[in-house]
Amino acid sequence: MTYVSTGPSASDSACFLCDAAREHPAEDSLVVDRNELTVTLLNRYPYSSGHLMVVPVRHAPDVLSLTPKEGAALFASTQRAIGALTEAMHPGGFNIGINQGSVAGASVEHIHLHVVPRWGGDTNFMPVLADVKVLPEHLENTAENLRAAFDRLRPL
Ligand SMILES: [Zn+2]
Repeated sequence: MTYVSTGPSASDSACFLCDAAREHPAEDSLVVDRNELTVTLLNRYPYSSGHLMVVPVRHAPDVLSLTPKEGAALFASTQRAIGALTEAMHPGGFNIGINQGSVAGASVEHIHLHVVPRWGGDTNFMPVLADVKVLPEHLENTAENLRAAFDRLRPL
């Protein structure tokens, strides 16, 4: 196990979260926020509108392999995600969580934190981190609105 943050490398190319961390901000991208250590993007298969994933830039497979600095950055970026979603979409609450390991529902070996905005009456409570529910969603529009909301937040 290495505690050296190396950033994404060519060998990570099979990982879609490494791809997202590498890509340059673009209009059609689902990336809405980034800094040196984390990237935040819309989930392509959201549990609710505005479902974000906060991802360490480095291909870290689990929570234990995050450095303290990466862990702190992950949480600070989660706070930014909640701030931007609150401003742009006014949800009533959030589910925030990590699925680690395939038995826990993780679909990719690159740890990431889900931020799922919730509105009163949207569904029954907690299955959001276990059940995939595809919503009709104009992801590019949502990404654009959220990028603007992130831009209005104070920088980390
Ligand atoms: Zn990765």
